[in-house]
Amino acid sequence: MVLDTATLRAAFGLMALVLVVLFYFSAYRVTRSPYSAWWCVALLFFLAGSGCFLLDGTPHQVWANPVGNTLLVHGGVAVWAGARSLRTVRPPKWAFTAIPVLTLVASALDHPATNVWSGGPVFLSAMSLTIGLASRELWRLEPGYSRVRIPMAVAAGGLSVFYFLRCVALLVEGQDGALFTTVFGSAVTTLVTMVLLVVVSFSMAALSTEQQTRALRVVASRDDLTGLLNRKAFIELAAEQLADRTITGGSGALILADLDHFKTVNDTYGHAAGDLALQAFAEACLATVRSTDLTGRYGGEEFVILVPGASAERAEIIAEEISRRLAGTETAHGMDMPTASYGISTYDGGTSDVDDLIAAADAALYRAKSLGRNRAARSDRLY
Ligand code: GH3
Ligand code: MG
Ligand code: MG
Repeated sequence: MVLDTATLRAAFGLMALVLVVLFYFSAYRVTRSPYSAWWCVALLFFLAGSGCFLLDGTPHQVWANPVGNTLLVHGGVAVWAGARSLRTVRPPKWAFTAIPVLTLVASALDHPATNVWSGGPVFLSAMSLTIGLASRELWRLEPGYSRVRIPMAVAAGGLSVFYFLRCVALLVEGQDGALFTTVFGSAVTTLVTMVLLVVVSFSMAALSTEQQTRALRVVASRDDLTGLLNRKAFIELAAEQLADRTITGGSGALILADLDHFKTVNDTYGHAAGDLALQAFAEACLATVRSTDLTGRYGGEEFVILVPGASAERAEIIAEEISRRLAGTETAHGMDMPTASYGISTYDGGTSDVDDLIAAADAALYRAKSLGRNRAARSDRLY
């Protein structure tokens, strides 16, 4: 059976069209992830580019052939941009201008009216380059991303090599060469690309969902007002830390903090000012602890910090430092920042239950309040 290139290209175009529509509704509309947006753009470029080649052999070939090459190369750039968006970086600007412009010029100067392979070497190497860069990008993703990226990286790498070999064949044998017209011919290329597009579209859908899920997970674990971990996320992460004995030998401290007479702050300066004080306290906490410590908003005006590796003494110093920073916070209308009371509990290899630790810190906090507030109390001391 002979598959003629025009029929194949028409089939390819139809398939790309179906993929764009499906992908737009199933992945992009749902996730709005940059990744799926780029992939839609890439598919549209591939579609338009292949469409142009249908005009080969007609009087329109003179413009359609260079434009087709350029559109396909632009599709390659969009694939690369999509892969980069997973790391939230953009490709350099020259990728969007220099590569397509170079392809267009090379093609336009190479007798496009009669030569269906006008600018062929530039076009083929541009495709190999952009798709190869996309493959490299997928390889370099952190291992946390799902394994879907591996077949995709392989597929993109394979396609890049295929285009590279076509380019070599074209340069060595010319466009009528045996190898170039059979193994690397347009019919084979169209078939290979069709299969790859389907594979990649499916994996893309999975990756876009993952990109969105990651963003949502960050949102779901944060407290809106302060940006600290919310109670649920804090407890989950603290439990993970406590279960992991490898972290600083499995000992550390937990600090529960409660702003003093906070109701009065709200009553005196208004709820909005109260919110600012809560944000200021959160910032004082973050400025004091290490980035590896866990800081959360436990509830209304209560905060909680897990400091792995810290002793009770070290936790007291941290509490003092937070209060010092809070007192030093600049306020708009001469508002007095509230003070804070702290309850400190510690853990070692033996205890590992977050709830127990918080309960112990809460009892100490209650004592700090009854001893006059603006101080820290430790669960391991009764005074
Ligand atoms: P104490 O020194 O004993 O802790 O006294 P307090 O006034 O701080 O304690 P109380 O529990 O009576 O009051 C807590 C107040 O915190 C009451 C509540 O309106 C306020 N609050 C809770 N969440 C927020 C918030 O998100 N924003 C603001 N502005 N206020 C809040
Ligand atoms: Mg309270
Ligand atoms: Mg309070």
